[in-house]
Amino acid sequence: MSTVNYDYIIVGAGLFGAVFARQMTDVGKRCLVIDRRSHIAGNIYSEEIEGIQVHIYGPHIFHTDNEEVWRYVQRFAKFNHFRYEPVANYKGELYNMPFNMNTFHQMWGINTPQQAETILEQQRKEITGEPKNLEEQAIKLIGRDVYEKLIKGYTQKQWGRSCDQLPSFIIRRLPVRLRYDNNYFNHPYQGIPIGGYTRMVEKMLAGIEVKQGVDYLANKAELDRLAEKVVYTGPIDAYFQYKYGPLEYRSLRFETEMLECDNYQGVAGMNFTDAETPYTRIVEHKWFEFGKGNVGKTVITREYSKEWKPGDEPYYPVNDEKNQCLYERYKAMAEKEPDVLFGGRLAEYKYYDMDKVIAAALTVSELENRSV
Ligand code: UDP
Repeated sequence: MSTVNYDYIIVGAGLFGAVFARQMTDVGKRCLVIDRRSHIAGNIYSEEIEGIQVHIYGPHIFHTDNEEVWRYVQRFAKFNHFRYEPVANYKGELYNMPFNMNTFHQMWGINTPQQAETILEQQRKEITGEPKNLEEQAIKLIGRDVYEKLIKGYTQKQWGRSCDQLPSFIIRRLPVRLRYDNNYFNHPYQGIPIGGYTRMVEKMLAGIEVKQGVDYLANKAELDRLAEKVVYTGPIDAYFQYKYGPLEYRSLRFETEMLECDNYQGVAGMNFTDAETPYTRIVEHKWFEFGKGNVGKTVITREYSKEWKPGDEPYYPVNDEKNQCLYERYKAMAEKEPDVLFGGRLAEYKYYDMDKVIAAALTVSELENRSV
């Protein structure tokens, strides 16, 4: 006696789940999307406060070099021409990010790429051979001066580990440029969806059944019966009841304040790169939309990084060797799980950007289409 009502039950209404649900619905599959939270859009969820789109789970800037993904998102939102150009604040000294001629001018008082190259070459020599950790990678990339002022303290706060205990790939996300160019990302397409991320995901989920406030793992047996297949986008270790022990994540705490002023810091993101300031950055949300919002108001968020413990929201996977090995064990179990697809940042334990999540969901849905 089967009570199967859906082809897919999709656990998690974040980007992966929403894109997968959209794609499968469009080819005639019956999808049910459930989420533990009382809202859709996962961590890209945004909420309007005083006419300002507030990024509730931390700032998200959409950027991609993937034409297909860029075309895809245009179906659900128009994007503005925002460019992320954060400023680093080291004990009151301000530096442009990412590392570029402006930063080098501010750091060393030099003006030409040749002068910067000479200093960088000198400082990079400190590291011979393959960098073994983030500290060595950072010094090899950008020299000790920049490392000490703009990387060391920030990274230690963000990851709760010293830089010689962290994998080098994290820092390779940041560009180094011998040009005057403060654009944080190298990708050709960048912007913020006009009207907010939540509305974009709402459009992805248009016409699809969504149930909020439903805890999948607590009601697994009963929910599994509803569908042929499950798409799980939650933490992979939780799915397997932490059988091999918990994976480590970084969590975040946000302190959001509404202020009675038009302009608090004049930039969307300011990173506090010293070790003493307890927060990693302050985000002033209105600057993602060029100051749109009610007159005389602004909303800022101080972001504090902390170790994840049960009950906290997991944000960043800690992809060091120990955790990566543990993840591989869970992944091997996942591969044997019949009729369950694992996808997204938490289920794949991956430091995923939004465009990569969308690309992955498109690929998985195409594979599904071919197999049925
Ligand atoms: N980072 C840094 N100083 C900064 C900004 C970033 O040292 O002012 C390092 C830090 O280790 C961080 C990594 O670069 O974890 C990646 O930063 P990104 O801004 O890409 O992180 P996310 O956008 O995911 O918060």
